[in-house]
Amino acid sequence: MATQTKDYYAILGVKKTATAEEIRKAFRKLARKYHPDVNPGDKKAEEKFKELSEANDVLSDEKKRRIYDQVGFYSDQIDPAQAEAYARQQGGQRPVDFGGFDFSGFQPGAGSAGGSSWSSFKDIFSGIFSGAEAQQQARPRGPQQGTDLEYQATVDFWTGVRGGQARLTVHRQETCPTCHGQAQTGVPRQCEECNGTGQVTQMGGRMKFNIPCPRCNGTGRVTSSCATCHGEGLVGRSETVEFRIKAGTRDGQRIRIQGKGNGGVRGGAAGDLYVIVRTGTHPLFTRVGDDIHLKVPVTIAEATLGAKVDVPTIEGRAQLKIPPGTQGGQKLRMRERGVENAQNASVRGDQIVTVEVVVPVLNDERSREIMREFAKLNPQDPRVELFGKV
Ligand SMILES: [Zn+2]
Ligand SMILES: [Zn+2]
Repeated sequence: MATQTKDYYAILGVKKTATAEEIRKAFRKLARKYHPDVNPGDKKAEEKFKELSEANDVLSDEKKRRIYDQVGFYSDQIDPAQAEAYARQQGGQRPVDFGGFDFSGFQPGAGSAGGSSWSSFKDIFSGIFSGAEAQQQARPRGPQQGTDLEYQATVDFWTGVRGGQARLTVHRQETCPTCHGQAQTGVPRQCEECNGTGQVTQMGGRMKFNIPCPRCNGTGRVTSSCATCHGEGLVGRSETVEFRIKAGTRDGQRIRIQGKGNGGVRGGAAGDLYVIVRTGTHPLFTRVGDDIHLKVPVTIAEATLGAKVDVPTIEGRAQLKIPPGTQGGQKLRMRERGVENAQNASVRGDQIVTVEVVVPVLNDERSREIMREFAKLNPQDPRVELFGKV
């Protein structure tokens, strides 16, 4: 008989705490006594032997025994993880009121993997589980912290360099002002579903059993959901958030604004707002981290003879020394003429100047003459090295 109420421990005459060895010994002793070969034609002995085998089959297998201990019976259809969750849910107590079960619908199964009776039992069993899961979902939980939000804010080049105020319109879930995030209003009243008993009877085939009332989660009492937030504890709201951009803020930098994320529920703290700052570009200055890159044109005379020239920086004009013999494309560094570091205001980046030599267009004969004379005085061939590398 594949009845589920059998006490396998009692059948084998061992304690619930029996070791695997004790179970094995108990089974061997009883099996010798009731074996059909020893009792030919004895129906009772045959039944007893089947019962012993079934009990031994479950209890001698560690996995099967575990499930049996957790849910009160064993079937191959029961997922161990479900059994585990079920046992936890019930706090180790035998979950279902088996007293109300009518097992007449079950046929003696051929072992634990038997036919349709097991599958229908499984259906009912999964029904119990889904009830238990629904209960867990609907159960009022403790304080829940609000989630974080992430927005992008675009500021111009100078705000990133010098800092300033920025504002952003954020759509956030705010703690409901009516129920103060409690999601419920009013005084608890008796549950209509279970008439305050906290239990409802569920039918499964010919069986009926009691499960915790899904409407009130077995508490017998219900409270109305808040009408403002429909029981969410939160309401959507657009808000303009103003915040400070530090001098030296880089493109892509993330700013945390505490408590401006979504609101919490049932007393939970609000989440944070993260703003990703996108800084604009400038027609002249290019920012690379805290450095400023700039192209500066110089004349042939300045490049060859050297000069002091005025160049723009983010803080106005500054003098740059062009060393004699500066080549086009050469980079000159102006120390600490870059951007203030957002983390440490005492640290500044540099300005990196790329020299561009401007070749003059000669429109008068005198200048051309000087250039020819210059060429005669400097008969260099700058392409010699090219051929040497071919
Ligand atoms: Zn509300
Ligand atoms: Zn109820």
